[in-house]
Amino acid sequence: MATIIKNIGLLATPVGIVAQKGEGQGNIELVTNTYVVIKDGFIEEVGRSGTSRDWTGTGQDEIIDAQGLLVTPGLVDAHTHLLFSGWRQQELAFKLQGLSYLDILAKGGGILHTVEQTRKAAIDELVNQGVKSLDTMLAHGTTTCEVKSGYGLTAEDELKSLRAIRQLGQVHAVDVVPTFMGAHAVPVEYKGCSADYVRLVCEEMIPKVAREQLAEFCDVFCETGVFTVAESEQILECGKHHGLLPKIHAEEITALGGAELAGKVQAISAEHLIHATDNGLAAMAASEVIAVLLPGTSFYLGEPFARAKDMVDRGIAVAVASDFNPGSCPNESLQIPMNIACLKYRLTPEQVLTAVTLNGAAAVNRSRVTGSIEPGKQGDMVIWNAPDLNFLFYHWGVNQVKTVVKQGRQVIG
Ligand SMILES: [Zn+2]
Repeated sequence: MATIIKNIGLLATPVGIVAQKGEGQGNIELVTNTYVVIKDGFIEEVGRSGTSRDWTGTGQDEIIDAQGLLVTPGLVDAHTHLLFSGWRQQELAFKLQGLSYLDILAKGGGILHTVEQTRKAAIDELVNQGVKSLDTMLAHGTTTCEVKSGYGLTAEDELKSLRAIRQLGQVHAVDVVPTFMGAHAVPVEYKGCSADYVRLVCEEMIPKVAREQLAEFCDVFCETGVFTVAESEQILECGKHHGLLPKIHAEEITALGGAELAGKVQAISAEHLIHATDNGLAAMAASEVIAVLLPGTSFYLGEPFARAKDMVDRGIAVAVASDFNPGSCPNESLQIPMNIACLKYRLTPEQVLTAVTLNGAAAVNRSRVTGSIEPGKQGDMVIWNAPDLNFLFYHWGVNQVKTVVKQGRQVIG
């Protein structure tokens, strides 16, 4: 059975199966008054401009009327920590009183609170909460989403988290891409002996994760006071040895050298990069590392914004993601990060659209199957309550999704 999206006022999509960089970042194909045909979940045909026609009377095909509105690829959120138990709304008051992250940590709050609650939670509870978050994401236009472990921090709890992430992918319409992030923090029981924890990650966790095929990527929080550049390298090389592609949280709070390391280990992506140096960016450009930028986190923490334009100018492919997590960015929607990327990074709507579709897909190794509206790719699309791209990026703070189509099926709207 085919699904036909008819009466598309404007179809806007990046083109290709690899990340777009430099000038390519802003190259968006625009087709007016057109249609798309999806068969068995995959795009079969994209009409040319001016070819919109009346599809009534085509038998059993499902017809979706876009009512002359804007259609883009489904959004790909390349960086989330959505699998957890332990929201932290109590910390808002602490933050308003001026307490620092370390003060909150000393009160037993911060990531430690979420780790404690996640360890206590049964796998079903984690899955149920994850489903709610995925429902919210889908309702806001996200059709593919990466999910990291990293709130278990024991072999048993990291495996539990990754098994929950696998279940999420099986039960939910959103495609879920799993990342192992046992090196998200040094757990309290290893305080002062992080080398022992790194050994646990490398000798026990990574081999078990690989054996059960629970993750595609290995990520590490390379940061002052968390994991050093040398420790991060050890973990990422160990992950590579076991078939996990490297990702790295780099230069979020301090310029430690994570971006250089991303280039050295040929990471698929480096994330945050708020304090990335020229040398770090040069190393990333040389190794074609994708920059996954998280503007919602800069906004929520009152931190500076990454030098996104500089990265585009240097030929680094830029993706934008939500960083949804219970501490520094408790928001599942990619739409607000899209607005902020436009207003604060000063990227154009076209550049940001590429960042949240094709480049996001490339950052999670999915750019051959999603991230653009082209024959052969999955039928993942959003119909927006907007006539054009400018409207989508100018109108902000409300959900502009009209309809979400996932693999040819209307799942929202
Ligand atoms: Zn993160």
